[in-house]
Amino acid sequence: MKRRAAFPSKSCGECNLCCTELKVDTAEFKKDGGVPCQHLGAQGCGIYLTRFKICREFLCGWLLTPELGEDWRPDLSGVLILQIAQASLPAAYQPAGNGVQFLITGGEAAIARPGFGEYVTDLVSRGVGVYLTATTPHALVNEHLQPMAAARDLPGAVRTLTHLYRLAAAARDKKGLLRMLPHLYGLHVEKKRAQIKNRSK
Ligand code: SF4
Ligand code: SF4
Repeated sequence: MKRRAAFPSKSCGECNLCCTELKVDTAEFKKDGGVPCQHLGAQGCGIYLTRFKICREFLCGWLLTPELGEDWRPDLSGVLILQIAQASLPAAYQPAGNGVQFLITGGEAAIARPGFGEYVTDLVSRGVGVYLTATTPHALVNEHLQPMAAARDLPGAVRTLTHLYRLAAAARDKKGLLRMLPHLYGLHVEKKRAQIKNRSK
């Protein structure tokens, strides 16, 4: 998808991640999430001049956020950012405005990338509703990350995000509960660590 950029310095370039990863369900156009659009070819959108309204109007979070540099472009970072409408958030997160969803397409390497944990932790500190997904139903992650954000524990936040991502990926790959148990245990350990760190301040 080649779209106008929200900011003049940004454009989709070679990226077409949203044409593959996103589910679309409008009257004129439907597609499943996680599969390439039938109109997507090697050169990008095959019906570019007549593409659907939703395709013309869509802007991902990277295009909408001036402080995210070129290295955050979704196809380069493995992270597709989407805005979540303020009105659809739990009441506790509405005062901070729209929520932010991180769709991880680049695996654990995308979470370990410099700047990712910092950006997510900063959003959590500011009370923004933060969701994580791996082309699965998304999960609100603020409660898991709040202790690390309060303790300014960046490595702990990245470990927690990795556990949450592994849970999402296991659910996507339909792996059993047994495969999820270590990650659930890891989340529990991270939460306890952060609580101890907070108490010792
Ligand atoms: S994910 Fe963002 S940058 Fe990539 S094609 Fe879609 S709108 Fe453009
Ligand atoms: S119609 Fe074109 S712009 Fe829209 S999702 Fe398909 S390939 Fe992307």
